[in-house]
Amino acid sequence: MSETTSAMPRIHVLDPRLANQIAAGEVVERPASVTKELIENAIDAGSQRIEVDIEAGGARLIKVRDDGVGIGEQDLPLALARHATSKIDSLEDLEGVSSLGFRGEALASISSVSRLELISNAADDPRQGWRVVAEGRGMETRVTPAPHPRGTSVAVRDLFFNTPARRKFLRTEKTEFAHVEEAFRRQALSRYDIAWTLRHNQKVVHQLPASHSSSASERRIASLLGNNFIEHARYIEREAGALRLSGWVGLPTHSRAQADQQYFFVNGRVVRDRLVAHAVRQAYRDVLYNGRHPVFVLYLTLDPDVVDVNVHPTKHEVRFRDGRMVHDFLYSSLHHSLADARPNDGDTPEVAASEPATAEEAPADTARWQQQGMALAPSSDRHPGGERVRRFMQGYQALHPDHEETLLTPQTGASHKASDEAHGAVREAPVAMPEADPASAPPLGFALGQLHGVYILAQNVHGLILVDMHAAHERIVYERMKTQLAATRGIDTQPLLVPVSLAASHAEVATVESERDAIAKLGVELDVAGPETLLVRQLPAMLAQADPEALVREMLEELARFGRTHQVEARIHELLSTMACHGSVRANRRLTLDEMNALLRDMERTERSDQCNHGRPTWTQMDMNALDRLFMRGK
Ligand code: ADP
Ligand code: MG
Repeated sequence: MSETTSAMPRIHVLDPRLANQIAAGEVVERPASVTKELIENAIDAGSQRIEVDIEAGGARLIKVRDDGVGIGEQDLPLALARHATSKIDSLEDLEGVSSLGFRGEALASISSVSRLELISNAADDPRQGWRVVAEGRGMETRVTPAPHPRGTSVAVRDLFFNTPARRKFLRTEKTEFAHVEEAFRRQALSRYDIAWTLRHNQKVVHQLPASHSSSASERRIASLLGNNFIEHARYIEREAGALRLSGWVGLPTHSRAQADQQYFFVNGRVVRDRLVAHAVRQAYRDVLYNGRHPVFVLYLTLDPDVVDVNVHPTKHEVRFRDGRMVHDFLYSSLHHSLADARPNDGDTPEVAASEPATAEEAPADTARWQQQGMALAPSSDRHPGGERVRRFMQGYQALHPDHEETLLTPQTGASHKASDEAHGAVREAPVAMPEADPASAPPLGFALGQLHGVYILAQNVHGLILVDMHAAHERIVYERMKTQLAATRGIDTQPLLVPVSLAASHAEVATVESERDAIAKLGVELDVAGPETLLVRQLPAMLAQADPEALVREMLEELARFGRTHQVEARIHELLSTMACHGSVRANRRLTLDEMNALLRDMERTERSDQCNHGRPTWTQMDMNALDRLFMRGK
C-alpha cells in the first residue's frame, strides 16, 4: 500500500473477473498456454478433428475448432464459470481421472484476460448452436443463437488486453508462435487417432491426417520432428504388470546438444518429470557421448489411480504412487532396448530407410488406439548407412585427437590383464571366407582388409561395411568385463583403513536410515555417527580410489529423490570402460583376415556394439545403391 493508513482496509470478496485474473496468473502465461488448454478441452470432448488458427503469434487470435460432443445451451454459461466442470464429481473421480482437464478453471481464467467467444452445438443439426461471452466485472454471461456444426469453436482475441503488465511480457510474434507450435506438437504426438491442423496467419503449418497404422504414425512424427528423428529411432514396446511403455527412442549416435526432442507421455498427458528424466538418463549412460542428450517420444500407460496428476496447475508434473517401481521399469526397458543396438539381420540398408514409405499399411487395432492414443508398430532397427558415414566422417576429425590420446595412455597392471584377454579374443579360431552364398553371410559380412591400420573393410550382402576397429573392440572388451563382474563375484568390498567422516544434513542422515538395505547391497557401509555426521566405513573394492564424499553424497541424493541410485555401478563401469580402452586393439596394429573376421563375429554377439564406450559409432554400412549413386552409375 502506498499510503500509510492507521487501519487495514475492510475484508471484501473480490469481483469474479479479478479473482479469475488472479487465477489466470498460474495457467495463462502466454498464447501457448491458452492453446494447450483449448486443445485439451477439444480432446476431452472426444473430437476426431481439431483445427488451430493463430494470428500474430497468438496475441491477436487463438482459435480452436473441434467436432466433439459440444455443449448444450443450458450448460453454456457454466462453461465460462470458475470451478465448473463436467469431468469430475467427487474426490474419488479425481483420484482416477482420465480426462486431461478437471479443474474447471481454464475457460474462466482465459476469458478474464482476453475477449473470449465460445460457440458450440451439442446436436447433429447444423442450424442449431449457441454463442456465449462473459462481460464486465461480474463476468455475466450472454448467450445468443449462432449456428455451428456439431462441436465447439473457441476464439480468444487480444490476449492480456486488460492486463498490460502481462502483455508486456509477450515476446515477438515469431517466438510466441514457436511456443504455440511446440504446444501443438506435444498434443498431436499424444493422439494419433485425431486429425490436426495448425495455421499461422492463414498459412498451413501442420496438416496431420488421423493415423491408424505404424507407418502413418511414423510419417506424423517425421513431419513434426523431422525425418532425421524417425530415421534414427527404433520402436520399442514393453510391458510389466500394469505398466506399459511404447514409443520411439533415438539411437545413441543420433543424440542432440540440447534436451529438446524429448517427449514423455503418461496416460496421454505430456509431462516433464524429474524421475522419468533420471531413469532415461541412466539408461543411456553407457552409450551416449558425453554431454549429449538422447531423443525420444515415449508413452507410459498405467492405472490412473497410481499416478496423481493434480500436483501442478498446468499439470506438467505428475506424482507416481510407486516412483521406485516406475523408475525401475523405465530404466530396465530402455536399457534393454539399447543393449540390442548391435549388428543383426534386421538391419535395413540405407536406401530402404530413407525412401518414403510405400508399403501397404498394417491394419490397425483401432479400439486399442483410441483408448490409448498410441502407435502400434513393429520393432525395427535402422542403419541408414550413407548418412551415418557422412556424419561419422565429419565427426571423426573432431574426435580423432581423443581417440589417439586414449591409445597412448600408459597401461596400468589391471588393463594389461584386460589387454591380454582382448588380444586373445581377436586371435580366436579362424573363420573361413564364405562360399558364394550371400544369404547365409553374417550381418557384418567378411573382412576384405584393413585401411591405414584404423578401419576394417568388410563385404556383406548389402555392400561395404566399415568398422572402426579400436572403437568396436573397446566395446567388446568393456561388455565382457561387465558381464564377468556381474557373473563372478558381484561387488567385492573393502573396509577403509581410516573411516571417512562426513558432515551431513538431516535429510541425508534420514536417507541413510531409511535406505539401509539398498546402501548395503551396493557394497557401501555407512554409519550414522551423530545427528549431522556420517561415517563411511567401507566401499566396493574397485572404488577404493574413489572420492568417498562425492560418491556418498550423490548416492544419497539419488536415493532420496528417486528411490534408486546407479552411482556405484556408474563409477565401476567408468573404471571398466577406461580399462577396456587401454586393453583394446590399438590403431596401426596389423590384423590378419581371421582376426578381423573374429572381431566382426564378436561385434554381432556383443550388446551395444553399435557404439563404442564413449557413444561413437563403431561401424557403418555403405550399400551398393549408395556406392552406385556415388559413382553416378545407372544415371
Ligand atoms: P475443465 O477442462 O477443467 O473441466 P475448462 O474451464 O477448461 O475446465 O472447461 C469447462 C467445461 O467446459 C468443461 O468441463 C467442459 O464441460 C466444457 N468444455 C470446454 N471446452 C469444450 C469443448 N471444446 N467441447 C466440449 N465441452 C467443452
Ligand atoms: Mg480444460
